[in-house]
Amino acid sequence: MRNPPRRQVLVAAAAGALGLVAPSSARARPMRRLIWVVNQRNEELAATYRREDGGYDFNALARLQHLFRDVRENLPGPLPPQLIDLLAILQESFGFDRPLRLLSGYRTPRTNASIGEAASPRSYHLEGKAADIAMRGIAPLDLALAAHAVSQRLGMMGIGLYGGFVHLDIGPTARWTRIGRG
Ligand SMILES: [Zn+2]
Repeated sequence: MRNPPRRQVLVAAAAGALGLVAPSSARARPMRRLIWVVNQRNEELAATYRREDGGYDFNALARLQHLFRDVRENLPGPLPPQLIDLLAILQESFGFDRPLRLLSGYRTPRTNASIGEAASPRSYHLEGKAADIAMRGIAPLDLALAAHAVSQRLGMMGIGLYGGFVHLDIGPTARWTRIGRG
């Protein structure tokens, strides 16, 4: 389903969005979830990574893991499904009319050390628990605020607002949800 025709994506997205509209109804409704991502190499994937019964589609997760790899070293890392869940729920709030642009997912220690933002040697990118994202036509601030709303609902997300992107990670519940410039 790489580079699916646009109409196909939208139809699939509409079906996915119907499956999970509000968190309060998440238990009662089907869990089917869709994500649409394009990475730094313009590799694109729109996939239903979670089935109606809430189970993960491991084939889709494997393809996402490839998309979220360290592209500099061409090495995949871990990709916790919870990170994809957060990104998918965030994407749902924008209606699936454009992909999430992934600017950085998993990073090897070598790549991490070479990037400014990552000065933090314990960056969650090293564990595959973080994603730097942007959306065409959406200001990073608006993306960060939407992420904040999602994190208020789910209670586990670190948020960093940068010049052209938003850093999101899944960390310990208590210490996250900060919005700042860096
Ligand atoms: Zn980051």
